[in-house]
Amino acid sequence: MNEVIERQERRYLVWRCVPSTELRGRRSPDSGCLMWSVRSTNKPLKGMMNAKMQAICKHCNNRPRLDAKNLYQFEDKYEAEIYCTELNGEE
Ligand SMILES: [Zn+2]
Repeated sequence: MNEVIERQERRYLVWRCVPSTELRGRRSPDSGCLMWSVRSTNKPLKGMMNAKMQAICKHCNNRPRLDAKNLYQFEDKYEAEIYCTELNGEE
């Protein structure tokens, strides 16, 4: 096969809705529900962090900034959703 297709690497992020770390100790109900969600991306993680990407929480409609310390990357959507469900079940 000579065809080398540089397709975009789609990844799935399992991320947690947490209050900004700058607000630690002053948690309010609308600053993070601590639930995990899945969203897809085709950007490298490093670039996303530089862009301070936000995601909308489907649980509380909060729009936290994604924090590399509070997310996991998956290449498979199904795996990501399973892991997300497990994380939410443990809370
Ligand atoms: Zn939330």
